[in-house]
Amino acid sequence: MNTRTIDLRSDTVTRPDAAMRKAMADAEVGDDVLDRDPTMAALEERVAATLGYDAALWVPSGSMGNLIALMIHLRRGDAFLAPEHAHVLGSELGTAAWLAQGMPQVLPHDAGPGRPTPNSVAAATGAGPYYALATTLLCLENTHNFAGGAVFDVDEWNGLLGAARQANLLVHLDGARVWNAAVALDVQVSDLTRGADTVQVCLSKGLGAPVGSMLASDSSRITEARRIRKMLGGGVRQGGILAAAGLLALDNIDSLACDHANARRLADGLRERGWSVEQPQTNIVLADGPMSVGELATLGIAAVTVTGRTRFVTHRDVSEADIDEALARLGDA
Ligand SMILES: *Cc1c(COP(=O)(O)O)cnc(C)c1O
Repeated sequence: MNTRTIDLRSDTVTRPDAAMRKAMADAEVGDDVLDRDPTMAALEERVAATLGYDAALWVPSGSMGNLIALMIHLRRGDAFLAPEHAHVLGSELGTAAWLAQGMPQVLPHDAGPGRPTPNSVAAATGAGPYYALATTLLCLENTHNFAGGAVFDVDEWNGLLGAARQANLLVHLDGARVWNAAVALDVQVSDLTRGADTVQVCLSKGLGAPVGSMLASDSSRITEARRIRKMLGGGVRQGGILAAAGLLALDNIDSLACDHANARRLADGLRERGWSVEQPQTNIVLADGPMSVGELATLGIAAVTVTGRTRFVTHRDVSEADIDEALARLGDA
């Protein structure tokens, strides 16, 4: 039996391909901390334009991008809103609280998986007694990872932005996989990112770069973000080697559609084999089945558990044939 592991733990496992490694090797570089690296500058300019913002900053991880945004937006003791199971709530070691000094307040998924309604934003805000928290920020996540790569569309985005502005909230979008949302909805990425105060996007997930996320905003906030990045130890020198990978990664947006098709194929196959599966909107499949992730591992299928369910993530390093192979192994078992 072929027991090569089919790695569906995350789209972060994607490795740079030969073309990306060559672009990295050939990258023009400078010292980005002293006086900018030209390839970094080119990447930051391209991402800012793609997302519909004045400026963008490369950061080593999405967690750092989110943290810098929260550090810019929050003052000590401010409350911020985020949908249940958001990455900023449970997957960043509480840095939103202990470094950005915010008090988290969870919003329900009352508009559907991963999605709060504008009403629940409004209900969580408004003037209270003098000892109430000041709620100053709304954090949204598109796609919502732990809700199964769930997407909200342009109308919902604008509705939530409207509710936030009505309540005088700043808005940060955790768009780690907003590329997937744009492909799933067949809209421009900027339609799903424009209008916030800050947006964080990942290059190192489905797009296939080895390292890197981007934070986009207006120029003055990005100037401040560059200072905070340095403070957190995230200033890099010849970053062009990483930025070159990021520039190539941006050419991979359209091919996310293959990952989405593979996720649907996997979901259908799991259902045929008796699993209870949520229909995937993007590249993440949440399922309940007769096997634990430990038992899946013995079949050479790597997955993880999130919020009590098994999560499979499709990506550019697993093919349609790999999905069929995984399903065949499950069928035999
Ligand atoms: C992966 C991810 C991040 C950032 O992750 P890093 O591993 O720090 O790059 C942020 N938000 C969401 C929703 C994610 O899935």
